[in-house]
Amino acid sequence: MAITSSQFEILRQLFSNADAEQKAAFLEWLNAPAASKAAKSVPASFDAFFAEKRTVLVCPRCGSVHIFKNGHRNGRQRYNCKDCKTSFVATNNTILHQSKKDLAVWTLYINCMMRKLPLRQTAKICGIHLATAFAWRHKILDALTNMMEGIKLDGVVECDETYQLVSFKGNHRNSRTFQMPRKAHKRGGTAEKRGLSQEQVCVTCGVNLGRQSVGRISNLGKPSCKDLASVLDGHVAEGAVMVTDAHRGYCKLADAYRASHIRIPRHRHTAQGFNIQLVNYYHSVLKGMINIHFKGVATKYLNNYVVWHNLVNFAHGPEGEKEMVMRDFVLTTKCLSFWKKNLVRPAIPVAA
Ligand SMILES: [Zn+2]
Repeated sequence: MAITSSQFEILRQLFSNADAEQKAAFLEWLNAPAASKAAKSVPASFDAFFAEKRTVLVCPRCGSVHIFKNGHRNGRQRYNCKDCKTSFVATNNTILHQSKKDLAVWTLYINCMMRKLPLRQTAKICGIHLATAFAWRHKILDALTNMMEGIKLDGVVECDETYQLVSFKGNHRNSRTFQMPRKAHKRGGTAEKRGLSQEQVCVTCGVNLGRQSVGRISNLGKPSCKDLASVLDGHVAEGAVMVTDAHRGYCKLADAYRASHIRIPRHRHTAQGFNIQLVNYYHSVLKGMINIHFKGVATKYLNNYVVWHNLVNFAHGPEGEKEMVMRDFVLTTKCLSFWKKNLVRPAIPVAA
């Protein structure tokens, strides 16, 4: 039996009056699979969260384990180091460092990211400023980039490249360091030159059947073997079966990685029963997210969107579980401040 429209209105009003922590708990409950709805909850505080995730705390300055609790500040447990006398909190060097928002807001924000909500809507739901929402998005994605570092693709590994038009989307007018190298394209513009040119960034990707993936901008235009290596090096397991198109560079790489190599000839779709359908699917979903869902993203941040896509669109697993992985990783991993990182973030981040 459905509730009446006035009952629904009450529900809506109750929700809008809930505080951030209650909203986060509610949304998490809503998104959880039915079976686990009763058990799930948001960690009550930073300290509870870190007590659960980080069993051993060490001094962030000297690495000593000789630390003792020393009162609270802003609701967070402080520690002192016996060896170097530094005072610190568990959030030092993490994304939460110097964040004035509490854990519930971050949890809510990560839920919005799992749902790929636009920034404006996210800012509204979390009760934060639009600029904060923007900074958080890339702080979180910068942290997730570290997660990709550890990925080792085994089994059948499909590798291929996809291209995106270089975009300088964003507010460059106020930048003192950035000069627009050409006239702005209208959104979703087309390249002036036909075929592959320096106007297109090449995103080199590798995926396996277990739905693990790596992907990053490797170069401008057509990639060389070295360009492909700049992304794939360290990410293909020994003994894997690399399935690629006819690009000659992959032969050398497969050798170097001690992987078998299935090379699909030009104008063919399969070779020896293998194809590169999964990596093609990966590309089409990525392009849909970037060009249609987000209406184009700045090349400066493209790598971050690839990482986002890797976890949210492509990785296997129930939504609730992926969300927990994202939250736990993002909140506990070490990261630089967004603004510091942005000062050195290149407009076109080619890997080599
Ligand atoms: Zn110390």
